[in-house]
Amino acid sequence: MEKKDIIISLQNVSKEFDGTTVVEDFTLDITKGEFVTFLGPSGCGKTTTLRMIAGFELPTTGTILLNGQDISLLPPYKRPINTIFQRYALFSHLNIYNNVSFGLKLKKIPYETKDKKGNTVIKYRRYTKKEIQEQVKIALNIVDLEGFEKRDIATLSGGQQQRIAIARAIVNKPQILLLDEPLGALDLKMRKEMQFELKDMHKKLGITFIYVTHDQEEALTMSDTIVVMNDGKIQQVGKPKEIYDEPVNAFVADFIGESSIYNGTIAKDNRVRFLNKYWNADPADFDKFQVNEKVDVVIRPEDVVIKTIDKGVVNGVIASKIFKGTHYEYIINIGKAELIAHSTIEFEEGLKVSLSVESNNIQIMKKPFISNFYDGYITKDHKVEFANSVFDVDILSLFPEAKMNEDGLIIDAKGNEIDPTDMDVDVEVPFDAISISDDLDASDIQGRIISLIYLGDHYEVMVRTEEEEDFILNTPDLWNENDFVSVIIDESKINLSRIRGGKKP
Ligand code: ATP
Repeated sequence: MEKKDIIISLQNVSKEFDGTTVVEDFTLDITKGEFVTFLGPSGCGKTTTLRMIAGFELPTTGTILLNGQDISLLPPYKRPINTIFQRYALFSHLNIYNNVSFGLKLKKIPYETKDKKGNTVIKYRRYTKKEIQEQVKIALNIVDLEGFEKRDIATLSGGQQQRIAIARAIVNKPQILLLDEPLGALDLKMRKEMQFELKDMHKKLGITFIYVTHDQEEALTMSDTIVVMNDGKIQQVGKPKEIYDEPVNAFVADFIGESSIYNGTIAKDNRVRFLNKYWNADPADFDKFQVNEKVDVVIRPEDVVIKTIDKGVVNGVIASKIFKGTHYEYIINIGKAELIAHSTIEFEEGLKVSLSVESNNIQIMKKPFISNFYDGYITKDHKVEFANSVFDVDILSLFPEAKMNEDGLIIDAKGNEIDPTDMDVDVEVPFDAISISDDLDASDIQGRIISLIYLGDHYEVMVRTEEEEDFILNTPDLWNENDFVSVIIDESKINLSRIRGGKKP
């Protein structure tokens, strides 16, 4: 991508509200004429990012460039950017013509003229009535509502009102149109229609669209580029097909389309082990991984081949079937794990089958992490404080040569006492060291479940405390988002390491 084609560039943009980071280190270049969609669950920071591009919010750190110029601090009305919201915010007392022309009537347009001394000066004038009429006509034509000028807003359907809101935005000839869940208030049928119309308008106008939605299907059908976000951070940027076929992590795979996700281990000879079997995978993937590396494996339902028993890689039992119009969707039990498969062939529930997947359809992804990491320190009674709680952890592991004497003092190899009080430490808590309970007395740490990803035979759950500490853990039990739980940590599984450059004892 050439630099000159970039219209908007967000560089390390972050936004905090009252000390909470809601957008973190967001870096993205958007090209002229591109249809870019910010996709992610509610609260992941999509709207905040859009509002920073529009100028309604200022970044806490980072820079926003428009055509190479820093606009981070420019007020909204000075940006060649218009926004369309979910609620159309039309003036109900004005007819369509007056709604669409509203901004144009107020606009002052610069023109060059000569003063008495013959110098060129810039003056401002308003649009003439004729110019306004022409521009309104063009805008209404684009949204397919030409001839509706005199109609009252109240007589229009939701879809038509949203089209008027679009006409009102494009009449100003913005370089960029921001659309914040613009179809969110419409019913499903109208939504589908408007998706096609918006795509068509984007083509006709040739300007950049930045679109916000939490609807993955909408993002996949409309966008040139999708930016998948979670928890204020970009997870993946790519074309819809790339995001669908090659999700970079379990969150993206789970959020985009249906899939079965498993814990896997890289094996020798381009094979990966999951569901207790070895599967041939795409050799192209193997440069990225080491033998024995733990990975996430994604299988899309349409890639599963259902065969007669013992003819595939793994055997299972059809647990349920639903007819979906063009195919059947099956849940297949494989031991304790489940797999979703699509097929045009009808199989009966309870049938024993065997499954295989083409090697290039086995998507292997790096595990982002399998542990939680915290900054901690050693308290005066030689415990470890992190995540706003105190834990009884063996701190002797930090001093390989040292021993503890009968008085509980740590003595180094030379016989000198070590006082570790206040020493900073890195704390690693593996996912498997944590469990959760609805018994709130079970632990001092409590929080709300903010995300759940199903990984074939268990869930990966993230719990966030009031102090914004996150704990990721694996559990076989089904919890719900927003459940308030206590977080129980197995202290024997906590690993400590010394921070390089941290306070020496
Ligand atoms: P949704 O789809 O629900 O609109 P979103 O991805 O657009 O979600 P944002 O609206 O950007 O998310 O919100 C991100 C987080 O920032 C949320 O936790 C929200 O409560 C918080 N937030 C947004 N605006 C403010 C504000 N003005 N003051 C404090 N917190 C805010």
